[in-house]
Amino acid sequence: MPLFNHAGFDDHELVVSIADKASGLRAIVAVHSTALGPALGGCRMWPYASDEEALADVLRLSRGMSYKNALAGLPLGGGKSVIIGDPHTEKTPACLRAFGRALKKLGGTYYTAEDSGTSVGDMEIIATETQYVAGRCSGEAASGDPSAFTARGVFLGIKESLRFKLERDSLSGCRVAIAGLGNVGMRLAAMLESERCRLTVADIDAEKVREATDRFGADAVGVDRIHAVEAEVFAPCALGGAINAATITDLAARIVAGGANNQLNEERFDEALWKAGILYAPDFVVNAGGVMNVAAEVGGTYDGHIVARQVSRIPKTLRAIFERSVKEHRPPNAVAEEMAIARIASAEARKAAA
Ligand code: NAD
Repeated sequence: MPLFNHAGFDDHELVVSIADKASGLRAIVAVHSTALGPALGGCRMWPYASDEEALADVLRLSRGMSYKNALAGLPLGGGKSVIIGDPHTEKTPACLRAFGRALKKLGGTYYTAEDSGTSVGDMEIIATETQYVAGRCSGEAASGDPSAFTARGVFLGIKESLRFKLERDSLSGCRVAIAGLGNVGMRLAAMLESERCRLTVADIDAEKVREATDRFGADAVGVDRIHAVEAEVFAPCALGGAINAATITDLAARIVAGGANNQLNEERFDEALWKAGILYAPDFVVNAGGVMNVAAEVGGTYDGHIVARQVSRIPKTLRAIFERSVKEHRPPNAVAEEMAIARIASAEARKAAA
């Protein structure tokens, strides 16, 4: 499998394969950068069709964590891990413990946390073997479920985007179309409704749609039409890739701002949105509330008030990105990535000079 020539390699500091015969564990840890501090990023468990697919995913996600942590102002680098397997049938305590032992050998270069296919409970099992785990539900520094902080950051990001794009200071009367009513999407819907925002929602789970229509008076549409709803804001809060070749031509919202990771299916859609006059709030900026919460554990103490203050600074970061995007006539995602890269580069330079 090519590594140094891989399209997603991007000078990763460390890429480690992990195999444990006894438990059957097969995993990859990727550390993109530790310039700003030890790498933090979740552990995804997924039945990848091939090793190549797993490698491509972990490299992309790891680089994304470097950018997210850098722009969140955290003293942390970016990394990610993937366990190859079906989380419903192949996840065992033995394989999670083996994963924990492997992280211990990495000596704190990389801290893991929950992600798709892993849970807070799984982190507790990994933590029986290593201290390099965050996003826990027990212990003095436990930060618990980060979703409330993620939703709060997205909510503030939506408000800032409305201010910037439409010069509106109030959500009252605005329509937001939310795709995905899970931990983040449902909380976001509650926050928006409390400020008299009109909601249109979609989810593959009919129960969640019913909850949102009952609780918030939301209108419901099918998951294949939510992106095309006439709304001020489209908020993708399900899986990645909401902005893709099939959806981009039908987008009717003026702003895209949501909680999902990797909303742009391909990088070129950043430019396509920009050219269409649709403001895109980079996902890794607006959804950073969750990692801010998890990161608070890494130092060994946890204070929710400090995390809340960090989350409240998301709009300021977003505005700086939007303003620079206008000034430089470039799409906001490209600007945000460049700002993150600059922060990482100056940390590298400081380290080299020390
Ligand atoms: P979740 O699993 O709780 O919710 C996802 C929801 O999306 C579910 O209700 C699911 O039924 C629905 N869904 C799945 N496919 C769909 C589709 N095609 N159309 C509409 N709905 C669909 O996940 P979550 O924790 O709410 O996270 C949502 C997104 O936000 C993910 O992309 C996640 O990576 C990202 N994110 C979450 C956090 C966090 O703190 N939870 C932090 C950062 C980023």
